[in-house]
Amino acid sequence: MIQGASFSRPDIHAEPGLQARASNGFNLGLVGYPLSHSLSPRLHAAALADSGLEGVYNLYPLSPESVEGDRLQTLLQTMRSGVIDGLNVTIPYKQVVLPMLDELTSVASATGAVNTIYRRNGKLVGDNTDVEGFTVDIRRNLEKTGLNWENDRLALVLGAGGSARAVVYALVTAGWGVYLSARRLEQAQSLLESYASKSISLSAMPLEASALQALLSEKSINLIVNTTPLGMAPWEGASPWPVQIPLPPGVFLYDLIYNPPETALLKAAHVAGLRGANGLGMLIEQAALAFERWTGQAPSRQSMTQAVQSRQL
Ligand code: NAP
Repeated sequence: MIQGASFSRPDIHAEPGLQARASNGFNLGLVGYPLSHSLSPRLHAAALADSGLEGVYNLYPLSPESVEGDRLQTLLQTMRSGVIDGLNVTIPYKQVVLPMLDELTSVASATGAVNTIYRRNGKLVGDNTDVEGFTVDIRRNLEKTGLNWENDRLALVLGAGGSARAVVYALVTAGWGVYLSARRLEQAQSLLESYASKSISLSAMPLEASALQALLSEKSINLIVNTTPLGMAPWEGASPWPVQIPLPPGVFLYDLIYNPPETALLKAAHVAGLRGANGLGMLIEQAALAFERWTGQAPSRQSMTQAVQSRQL
C-alpha cells in the first residue's frame, strides 16, 4: 500500500510515513516544498502495482522557511542507513542537495541538479532523470509528427531555470543548436557557459519580442520548448510568447507544463495549425526511470499515464 505522509517534526524516525514501511517493501518518497499538488504518489503507486511490488511513497514537504537545523541532511542520513530506499527531489532542493550526496552520476554533475537519489553499496548517489525523461519524450513526439531528431536540430528554449538546465543539456548532448531566451539575459548566459564546449551553436537572448523576431527572421527553428511556469497555476492563461509575433511555421512546440493539459501557448500553436505536446510524457518517463534506479524493474508507462490522467481531466 502506498501512503502519503507529512513530515513536519525534526525527529524523522518518529514520522508515520517511515513507520508505515512495508516489511518487505520499498520505502520511496519525494522531498521538496510545496508538495500538495504532486502527482508523484499516484505515479509510483501505479508503478509498484504494475511491477507487483510492495511499497510506500511518502511526501516530505520540508518548508525552507521553517527548517531548523538541517532536516534535509537528517532525511538523507535515514536513507543512508537503509530505512528509505529511494527519494525524488524537487524545488527548492534540486541544487542544494548536491554537496550532501556521496556520488553524482555524470548527468547530475553536468546539469548541477539532482531529481533522484538511490543507494549503492551504502552510498547515496544523485542522478537526474529529467534529462533522459525529456529526451525520450521529445524524440518520440518529433518522430511521430515527421520531424527528425537527427536532422531537424535547431531549438529555441524559453526560460533558463532548473528544468531548462536538463532540457538544454539533453539537446546539446544530442547535437542540437540551442537559442536560450530568458527574461534575465545573464541567467541564460550563465546556463550556457556550463555547456559551451558541447556545441558550437549556443546563444543566449532576452525573452523579448524584438529579439525573438530578429531570430526568426534569420533562422529556421524546428522546436520551441517552454520551461517557464507561465501557463500553469497561478498564471493560467498567460504565455511566455509575445502575442504580436506569429509562431514560426513548421515548428514543434513542447510545453513542460502538463497541468492544465493545454496551456495558452499550446493552444496558440494548435490554432496556428502547429504540432505540439505538453510535459506529461516527460513527467511519466522521468518517474519511471527513477523507479528503475530504485527497484531494478521497468514499470508500464501506460499504467502510470492512466493513473494521473484520471486525476487531471
Ligand atoms: P524555475 O527553476 O523556477 O525556472 C523557471 C524559469 O522561468 C526561470 O528562468 C524564470 O526566470 C522564468 N520565468 C518565471 N516567470 C517568468 C515570467 N513571468 N516571464 C518570463 N520568464 C519567467 O522552474 P523549473 O523547475 O525550471 O520549472 C519550470 C516549469 O517546468 C514549471 O511549470 C514546472 O512544473 C515544469 N516542469 C515540468 C517537468 C516535467 O516533467 N514535465 C519537469 C520539471 C519542471 P526568473 O529566474 O527570472 O524568475
